[in-house]
Amino acid sequence: MENKKYTLLTCMDARLDPLEMSGFKDAEAFVIRNAGGRATDEAIDYMLVTKNFFNANEWWIIHHTDCLMGQMPDDKVSELPETIKNNLFLDLEQSVIEDIEKVRSHHLVSEDIILKGFIYNLEKSELINISE
Ligand SMILES: [Zn+2]
Repeated sequence: MENKKYTLLTCMDARLDPLEMSGFKDAEAFVIRNAGGRATDEAIDYMLVTKNFFNANEWWIIHHTDCLMGQMPDDKVSELPETIKNNLFLDLEQSVIEDIEKVRSHHLVSEDIILKGFIYNLEKSELINISE
């Protein structure tokens, strides 16, 4: 029997260590990263790969405090590619909730996928589950 596998979707911010902050060991968790840890169509595709090919059926979406995607200065926004602009957010908790809803409503995401949302507090090194 294979060990249970997890998939983490989180921000590419260099200050984050996804395995450390989630408490998983190397072989337990797949890690998908982009700016903000947003549930883009591409990120969801990769999450589906982890489920379909590696049986990872518990997915964690982890956004974090002090994320650049939540506080992009106006003069920088215009320099961003459109696809990245769509991933900016104003409300951290709301961004996690939106992403969970987006993943949950994706037509290829089956009901047996366990989906959890978290905020990682960088200052306190604390992971807060907001999906409970
Ligand atoms: Zn970030």
